[in-house]
Amino acid sequence: MTAPTRLLAACLPAILTTCLVSCAGTSPLDVADWRARPAPVRPDGVKVTFLGNTTLLFSDGETSLMIDGYVSRPGAFPTFFGKIAPHEGRIQQALDDAGIDRIDAILVGHSHYDHALDTPIVARRTRAKVMGSTSYAQVHRGTLGEEHPTDLIVIPDGGGSRRFGRFTVTFVKSDHVTAIHGIQEKIEGPITAPVVPPTKMTDYKCGPVFAIHIAHPDGSALVTTTAGAEEKALDDFRADTVFLGIGLLGRETPCNQEKYWREVVEAVDPAVIVPVHWDSLTTPLAKGTPLKPLPKPFDDVGAAIDFLKAKTAGTPRRVVAMDAFETRSLGRE
Ligand SMILES: [Zn+2]
Repeated sequence: MTAPTRLLAACLPAILTTCLVSCAGTSPLDVADWRARPAPVRPDGVKVTFLGNTTLLFSDGETSLMIDGYVSRPGAFPTFFGKIAPHEGRIQQALDDAGIDRIDAILVGHSHYDHALDTPIVARRTRAKVMGSTSYAQVHRGTLGEEHPTDLIVIPDGGGSRRFGRFTVTFVKSDHVTAIHGIQEKIEGPITAPVVPPTKMTDYKCGPVFAIHIAHPDGSALVTTTAGAEEKALDDFRADTVFLGIGLLGRETPCNQEKYWREVVEAVDPAVIVPVHWDSLTTPLAKGTPLKPLPKPFDDVGAAIDFLKAKTAGTPRRVVAMDAFETRSLGRE
Protein backbone atom coordinates (compact mmCIF):
# COMPACT_ATOMS: atom_id res chain seq x y z
CA MET A 1 0.00 0.00 0.00
CA THR A 2 1.44 3.41 -0.95
CA ALA A 3 1.78 6.19 1.65
CA PRO A 4 -1.10 8.30 0.21
CA THR A 5 -3.34 5.20 0.11
CA ARG A 6 -2.42 4.39 3.71
CA LEU A 7 -3.26 7.94 4.71
CA LEU A 8 -6.60 7.78 2.93
CA ALA A 9 -7.41 4.43 4.57
CA ALA A 10 -6.49 5.84 7.99
CA CYS A 11 -8.62 8.96 7.46
CA LEU A 12 -11.59 7.20 5.94
CA PRO A 13 -13.52 6.65 9.18
CA ALA A 14 -13.34 10.37 9.95
CA ILE A 15 -14.42 11.29 6.44
CA LEU A 16 -17.27 8.79 6.62
CA THR A 17 -18.46 10.02 9.97
CA THR A 18 -18.35 13.64 8.89
CA CYS A 19 -20.30 12.86 5.77
CA LEU A 20 -22.82 10.55 7.42
CA VAL A 21 -23.53 13.08 10.14
CA SER A 22 -23.59 16.14 7.88
CA CYS A 23 -25.77 14.44 5.31
CA ALA A 24 -28.20 12.99 7.84
CA GLY A 25 -30.77 15.72 7.36
CA THR A 26 -30.58 15.97 3.59
CA SER A 27 -31.19 13.66 0.71
CA PRO A 28 -28.27 13.76 -1.73
CA LEU A 29 -30.26 11.80 -4.27
CA ASP A 30 -33.76 12.44 -5.46
CA VAL A 31 -35.08 8.95 -4.85
CA ALA A 32 -38.62 9.76 -5.94
CA ASP A 33 -37.79 9.10 -9.58
CA TRP A 34 -36.83 5.49 -8.98
CA ARG A 35 -39.53 4.66 -6.45
CA ALA A 36 -42.32 3.28 -8.57
CA ARG A 37 -45.66 2.97 -6.80
CA PRO A 38 -45.91 -0.69 -5.73
CA ALA A 39 -48.77 -2.92 -6.79
CA PRO A 40 -51.64 -3.29 -4.29
CA VAL A 41 -51.00 -5.85 -1.56
CA ARG A 42 -53.14 -8.96 -2.03
CA PRO A 43 -54.97 -10.27 1.05
CA ASP A 44 -53.64 -13.81 0.57
CA GLY A 45 -50.32 -15.30 -0.52
CA VAL A 46 -46.85 -14.30 0.64
CA LYS A 47 -46.23 -10.76 1.83
CA VAL A 48 -42.81 -9.15 2.17
CA THR A 49 -42.08 -6.22 4.49
CA PHE A 50 -38.89 -4.17 4.21
CA LEU A 51 -37.13 -2.95 7.37
CA GLY A 52 -34.13 -1.16 5.88
CA ASN A 53 -30.74 -2.33 4.62
CA THR A 54 -31.31 -6.03 3.79
CA THR A 55 -33.82 -6.82 6.52
CA LEU A 56 -36.98 -8.33 5.05
CA LEU A 57 -39.85 -10.27 6.57
CA PHE A 58 -41.57 -12.95 4.44
CA SER A 59 -44.90 -14.26 5.74
CA ASP A 60 -47.68 -16.44 4.35
CA GLY A 61 -49.85 -15.89 7.42
CA GLU A 62 -48.70 -19.12 9.05
CA THR A 63 -44.92 -19.06 8.75
CA SER A 64 -42.61 -16.04 8.95
CA LEU A 65 -39.01 -15.80 7.78
CA MET A 66 -36.70 -12.84 8.26
CA ILE A 67 -33.55 -11.96 6.32
CA ASP A 68 -30.68 -10.69 8.55
CA GLY A 69 -32.58 -8.61 11.14
CA TYR A 70 -30.33 -5.53 11.37
CA VAL A 71 -32.63 -2.87 12.88
CA SER A 72 -30.87 -1.15 15.80
CA ARG A 73 -28.50 0.78 13.46
CA PRO A 74 -25.87 2.27 15.80
CA GLY A 75 -24.70 5.82 14.98
CA ALA A 76 -21.65 6.68 12.91
CA PHE A 77 -19.37 7.53 15.84
CA PRO A 78 -19.64 4.24 17.78
CA THR A 79 -19.61 2.31 14.52
CA PHE A 80 -16.37 3.76 13.22
CA PHE A 81 -14.56 4.86 16.42
CA GLY A 82 -16.06 3.03 19.37
CA LYS A 83 -17.91 -0.17 20.18
CA ILE A 84 -21.30 -1.37 19.05
CA ALA A 85 -23.91 -3.71 20.51
CA PRO A 86 -27.48 -4.68 19.71
CA HIS A 87 -29.86 -2.10 21.17
CA GLU A 88 -32.71 -4.00 22.85
CA GLY A 89 -35.08 -1.00 22.90
CA ARG A 90 -34.66 -0.16 19.22
CA ILE A 91 -34.99 -3.81 18.27
CA GLN A 92 -38.28 -4.20 20.15
CA GLN A 93 -39.56 -0.90 18.71
CA ALA A 94 -38.87 -2.10 15.17
CA LEU A 95 -40.57 -5.43 15.85
CA ASP A 96 -43.58 -3.66 17.38
CA ASP A 97 -43.81 -1.14 14.52
CA ALA A 98 -43.76 -3.97 11.99
CA GLY A 99 -46.29 -6.03 14.02
CA ILE A 100 -43.84 -8.89 14.47
CA ASP A 101 -44.37 -11.17 17.46
CA ARG A 102 -43.12 -14.53 16.26
CA ILE A 103 -40.60 -15.48 13.54
CA ASP A 104 -39.94 -19.08 12.54
CA ALA A 105 -36.44 -18.55 11.14
CA ILE A 106 -33.95 -15.76 10.53
CA LEU A 107 -31.71 -16.26 7.50
CA VAL A 108 -28.34 -14.50 7.64
CA GLY A 109 -26.58 -13.74 4.33
CA HIS A 110 -23.16 -12.99 5.83
CA SER A 111 -21.75 -11.92 9.19
CA HIS A 112 -20.83 -8.24 8.72
CA TYR A 113 -22.29 -6.08 11.49
CA ASP A 114 -24.91 -4.47 9.24
CA HIS A 115 -26.46 -7.91 8.77
CA ALA A 116 -25.67 -9.97 11.87
CA LEU A 117 -25.38 -7.51 14.78
CA ASP A 118 -28.99 -7.81 16.00
CA THR A 119 -29.88 -11.28 14.72
CA PRO A 120 -29.32 -13.18 17.99
CA ILE A 121 -31.47 -10.71 19.96
CA VAL A 122 -34.25 -10.67 17.36
CA ALA A 123 -34.16 -14.48 17.45
CA ARG A 124 -34.42 -14.57 21.24
CA ARG A 125 -37.31 -12.09 21.28
CA THR A 126 -39.27 -13.88 18.53
CA ARG A 127 -38.28 -17.47 19.42
CA ALA A 128 -36.79 -17.90 15.95
CA LYS A 129 -34.33 -20.46 14.70
CA VAL A 130 -31.37 -18.94 12.84
CA MET A 131 -29.68 -20.21 9.68
CA GLY A 132 -26.20 -18.76 9.21
CA SER A 133 -22.59 -19.47 8.38
CA THR A 134 -19.83 -20.83 10.60
CA SER A 135 -18.76 -17.21 11.15
CA TYR A 136 -22.29 -16.11 12.06
CA ALA A 137 -22.31 -18.93 14.64
CA GLN A 138 -19.54 -17.03 16.49
CA VAL A 139 -21.76 -13.91 16.61
CA HIS A 140 -24.71 -15.96 17.85
CA ARG A 141 -22.73 -17.71 20.59
CA GLY A 142 -20.88 -14.55 21.60
CA THR A 143 -24.11 -12.55 21.94
CA LEU A 144 -26.31 -15.17 23.63
CA GLY A 145 -23.77 -17.44 25.33
CA GLU A 146 -25.09 -20.98 25.48
CA GLU A 147 -28.64 -19.68 25.87
CA HIS A 148 -29.97 -20.87 22.49
CA PRO A 149 -27.48 -23.41 21.12
CA THR A 150 -30.11 -25.69 19.59
CA ASP A 151 -31.85 -22.86 17.71
CA LEU A 152 -28.83 -22.28 15.48
CA ILE A 153 -28.57 -24.08 12.13
CA VAL A 154 -24.99 -23.73 10.93
CA ILE A 155 -24.79 -23.86 7.14
CA PRO A 156 -21.70 -25.48 5.58
CA ASP A 157 -19.63 -23.16 3.38
CA GLY A 158 -21.01 -24.88 0.26
CA GLY A 159 -24.63 -24.06 1.18
CA GLY A 160 -27.69 -25.96 2.38
CA SER A 161 -31.47 -26.13 2.42
CA ARG A 162 -34.30 -26.32 4.99
CA ARG A 163 -38.11 -26.31 4.98
CA PHE A 164 -40.16 -24.01 7.21
CA GLY A 165 -43.91 -24.57 6.81
CA ARG A 166 -44.64 -24.16 3.09
CA PHE A 167 -41.37 -22.32 2.47
CA THR A 168 -38.22 -24.00 1.18
CA VAL A 169 -35.08 -21.99 1.92
CA THR A 170 -31.80 -22.62 0.11
CA PHE A 171 -28.48 -20.99 0.94
CA VAL A 172 -26.39 -20.76 -2.26
CA LYS A 173 -22.66 -20.06 -2.15
CA SER A 174 -22.01 -16.48 -3.22
CA ASP A 175 -19.43 -13.71 -2.94
CA HIS A 176 -19.11 -10.23 -1.41
CA VAL A 177 -18.92 -6.92 -3.28
CA THR A 178 -15.30 -5.82 -3.83
CA ALA A 179 -13.57 -4.08 -0.93
CA ILE A 180 -12.78 -0.56 -2.13
CA HIS A 181 -12.51 1.23 1.21
CA GLY A 182 -9.62 0.60 3.60
CA ILE A 183 -12.06 -0.19 6.38
CA GLN A 184 -13.60 -3.00 4.31
CA GLU A 185 -10.26 -4.78 4.17
CA LYS A 186 -10.35 -4.99 7.98
CA ILE A 187 -13.58 -6.95 7.90
CA GLU A 188 -12.66 -9.64 5.40
CA GLY A 189 -12.10 -13.29 6.31
CA PRO A 190 -13.80 -15.61 8.80
CA ILE A 191 -14.69 -15.07 12.46
CA THR A 192 -12.81 -17.64 14.53
CA ALA A 193 -13.82 -16.78 18.11
CA PRO A 194 -17.12 -15.75 19.76
CA VAL A 195 -17.98 -12.07 19.15
CA VAL A 196 -19.10 -10.66 22.50
CA PRO A 197 -20.76 -7.20 22.27
CA PRO A 198 -20.14 -4.39 22.93
CA THR A 199 -17.18 -4.70 20.60
CA LYS A 200 -15.59 -3.12 17.54
CA MET A 201 -17.45 -3.17 14.25
CA THR A 202 -14.37 -4.76 12.68
CA ASP A 203 -14.88 -7.90 14.81
CA TYR A 204 -17.91 -8.70 12.66
CA LYS A 205 -15.92 -10.12 9.76
CA CYS A 206 -17.56 -11.28 6.57
CA GLY A 207 -17.28 -15.08 6.71
CA PRO A 208 -18.93 -17.17 3.97
CA VAL A 209 -21.48 -15.31 1.83
CA PHE A 210 -24.75 -16.83 0.65
CA ALA A 211 -27.49 -15.81 -1.76
CA ILE A 212 -30.79 -16.88 -0.19
CA HIS A 213 -33.47 -18.50 -2.34
CA ILE A 214 -36.99 -18.73 -0.94
CA ALA A 215 -39.54 -20.94 -2.67
CA HIS A 216 -43.24 -21.07 -1.79
CA PRO A 217 -46.30 -22.36 -3.70
CA ASP A 218 -47.49 -18.73 -3.96
CA GLY A 219 -44.23 -17.19 -5.21
CA SER A 220 -40.45 -17.27 -5.11
CA ALA A 221 -37.68 -14.85 -4.27
CA LEU A 222 -33.93 -14.52 -4.24
CA VAL A 223 -32.15 -12.21 -1.80
CA THR A 224 -28.55 -11.07 -2.22
CA THR A 225 -27.26 -9.30 0.87
CA THR A 226 -24.22 -7.92 -1.00
CA ALA A 227 -23.44 -7.14 -4.65
CA GLY A 228 -21.26 -10.15 -5.39
CA ALA A 229 -21.92 -13.48 -7.10
CA GLU A 230 -20.44 -16.92 -7.66
CA GLU A 231 -20.28 -17.98 -11.29
CA LYS A 232 -23.02 -20.45 -12.36
CA ALA A 233 -24.19 -21.00 -8.77
CA LEU A 234 -27.76 -19.79 -9.41
CA ASP A 235 -28.31 -21.28 -12.85
CA ASP A 236 -30.74 -23.93 -11.53
CA PHE A 237 -32.89 -21.43 -9.60
CA ARG A 238 -35.75 -19.18 -10.72
CA ALA A 239 -37.36 -16.33 -8.75
CA ASP A 240 -40.37 -14.06 -9.33
CA THR A 241 -38.67 -11.26 -7.41
CA VAL A 242 -35.01 -10.54 -6.70
CA PHE A 243 -34.25 -8.43 -3.65
CA LEU A 244 -30.98 -7.18 -5.04
CA GLY A 245 -28.23 -5.91 -2.76
CA ILE A 246 -26.83 -2.80 -4.43
CA GLY A 247 -24.48 -1.53 -1.70
CA LEU A 248 -21.29 -0.32 -3.47
CA LEU A 249 -22.56 -1.67 -6.82
CA GLY A 250 -22.31 1.89 -8.18
CA ARG A 251 -18.62 1.94 -7.26
CA GLU A 252 -17.84 -1.45 -8.86
CA THR A 253 -16.02 -1.82 -12.19
CA PRO A 254 -18.30 -2.20 -15.24
CA CYS A 255 -16.96 -5.76 -15.56
CA ASN A 256 -18.03 -6.67 -12.02
CA GLN A 257 -21.40 -4.93 -12.46
CA GLU A 258 -22.04 -7.01 -15.58
CA LYS A 259 -20.98 -10.20 -13.81
CA TYR A 260 -23.35 -9.50 -10.91
CA TRP A 261 -26.23 -8.82 -13.30
CA ARG A 262 -25.53 -11.94 -15.37
CA GLU A 263 -24.96 -14.36 -12.48
CA VAL A 264 -27.87 -13.13 -10.35
CA VAL A 265 -30.59 -11.39 -12.34
CA GLU A 266 -30.25 -13.13 -15.69
CA ALA A 267 -29.72 -16.47 -13.93
CA VAL A 268 -32.98 -16.46 -11.95
CA ASP A 269 -35.01 -14.38 -14.47
CA PRO A 270 -37.24 -12.26 -12.17
CA ALA A 271 -40.17 -10.07 -13.23
CA VAL A 272 -39.45 -7.60 -10.43
CA ILE A 273 -36.20 -6.29 -8.92
CA VAL A 274 -36.36 -4.64 -5.50
CA PRO A 275 -33.08 -2.88 -4.62
CA VAL A 276 -31.95 -3.37 -1.02
CA HIS A 277 -28.80 -2.27 0.88
CA TRP A 278 -29.01 1.32 -0.38
CA ASP A 279 -30.00 3.28 2.73
CA SER A 280 -27.78 4.93 5.32
CA LEU A 281 -26.85 2.28 7.89
CA THR A 282 -26.35 4.67 10.78
CA THR A 283 -29.64 6.58 10.90
CA PRO A 284 -32.33 5.09 13.15
CA LEU A 285 -35.23 3.17 11.70
CA ALA A 286 -38.46 5.10 12.33
CA LYS A 287 -41.92 4.29 11.05
CA GLY A 288 -43.18 7.14 8.86
CA THR A 289 -39.69 8.52 8.21
CA PRO A 290 -38.39 7.76 4.70
CA LEU A 291 -35.03 6.05 4.48
CA LYS A 292 -32.11 8.13 3.26
CA PRO A 293 -29.73 6.79 0.61
CA LEU A 294 -26.16 6.17 1.72
CA PRO A 295 -24.36 9.37 0.72
CA LYS A 296 -21.23 9.92 -1.33
CA PRO A 297 -18.32 9.34 -1.01
CA PHE A 298 -19.17 6.12 0.84
CA ASP A 299 -21.38 4.88 -1.99
CA ASP A 300 -22.96 6.02 -5.25
CA VAL A 301 -26.54 4.81 -5.05
CA GLY A 302 -27.54 6.94 -8.05
CA ALA A 303 -25.01 5.13 -10.25
CA ALA A 304 -26.34 1.74 -9.11
CA ILE A 305 -29.93 2.76 -9.87
CA ASP A 306 -28.86 4.12 -13.27
CA PHE A 307 -27.24 0.73 -13.96
CA LEU A 308 -30.48 -1.12 -13.06
CA LYS A 309 -32.53 1.28 -15.20
CA ALA A 310 -30.23 0.80 -18.19
CA LYS A 311 -30.34 -2.99 -17.88
CA THR A 312 -34.14 -3.12 -17.61
CA ALA A 313 -34.98 -0.44 -20.23
CA GLY A 314 -37.14 -1.93 -22.97
CA THR A 315 -37.61 -5.22 -21.09
CA PRO A 316 -40.61 -6.51 -19.13
CA ARG A 317 -38.56 -6.40 -15.90
CA ARG A 318 -39.49 -3.69 -13.40
CA VAL A 319 -37.40 -2.03 -10.69
CA VAL A 320 -39.52 -1.27 -7.62
CA ALA A 321 -38.03 0.31 -4.52
CA MET A 322 -39.53 -0.17 -1.06
CA ASP A 323 -39.32 2.18 1.92
CA ALA A 324 -39.07 1.13 5.55
CA PHE A 325 -42.10 -0.79 6.88
CA GLU A 326 -43.57 -1.00 3.38
CA THR A 327 -45.18 -4.32 2.41
CA ARG A 328 -45.69 -5.90 -1.03
CA SER A 329 -47.05 -9.22 -2.28
CA LEU A 330 -44.69 -11.83 -3.68
CA GLY A 331 -45.39 -13.54 -6.98
CA ARG A 332 -46.10 -12.75 -10.60
CA GLU A 333 -48.05 -9.52 -11.02
ZN1 LIG B 1 -21.04 -7.01 3.86
